[in-house]
Amino acid sequence: MDTIKNHPTDELLASYSAASLPLSQALCISVHVEHCDECAEKLRRLNQVGSELMHQLKPSPPSSGLKDKLLDQLDTITGDAETGRHRPDNTSVPRCLHQFIKTGYEKISWKRISRDIQSYELCRDQNNAKVELLRIRPGGTSSTHTHMGDEYTVILEGSFSDEAGLYHKGDFLLRDASHRHTPVATLDKDCICLAVTEAPIQLTGFFGRLLNPFIRRSYA
Ligand SMILES: [Zn+2]
Repeated sequence: MDTIKNHPTDELLASYSAASLPLSQALCISVHVEHCDECAEKLRRLNQVGSELMHQLKPSPPSSGLKDKLLDQLDTITGDAETGRHRPDNTSVPRCLHQFIKTGYEKISWKRISRDIQSYELCRDQNNAKVELLRIRPGGTSSTHTHMGDEYTVILEGSFSDEAGLYHKGDFLLRDASHRHTPVATLDKDCICLAVTEAPIQLTGFFGRLLNPFIRRSYA
C-alpha cells in the first residue's frame, strides 16, 4: 500500500523474526506487515537468514513424543483454517487479530472513554502492557498526552493527524515518554487503531489532569 510512510525499525523487525518480542509488540508488527509489502519482504529475508543460521547449528533428533505432539498441533491448525472457525464477518480485520475479534468492528462491545473515543481491550501481555482497539469518531480528538512508557499504534481503518503529520491505514507509530501529542481523526470516517501502552499515559491539559487518576485506576 503506497500511503504507508511509517514503519517499524529494522531492529524491531529482527526481534520479531527471532520471536523475542512480547506479545503486545508482536501483534503490532504482525498487523503492520499484513498491510506493508516493504516490511513483509524485509521480514521474509530476515526469516531466511534466521533459518540458515539454525541449519548451521548441530541438530539433535526430536524425541518421538515431541514429534507426535507437533504433528497433532499441525492437524489442529489446518482444521481451524479449513473450517474458517476464526474468521470474523468483517474480513477487513487483520488475520492476526481474528483470535480476539470474531464479529467485525461494528459488533464489538465498545466502551466509551470520552465524547470522541471508544475502546475495546483485547488482552494484556506478560509485561502487563495493554493491547486495545481505539475508535475515534470523525474529527474527534484525544486529549494532549505524553507517555510514561512506550506507546505503539497501528492504524486499522481511517486516518488521524497529530503535530508531526498525517497517518493512514497500516502506518506504524512508536511514541516514547519524550513525545507530547494530540491525535485528531480526519473528518471522512471513524479512525480505528490497534494501540499498545506499556504504562499509563499522562494527560497534560487541564481536563487531562482531572482525568489522570481515573486512567491510572482503569489500568490497575
Ligand atoms: Zn512497513
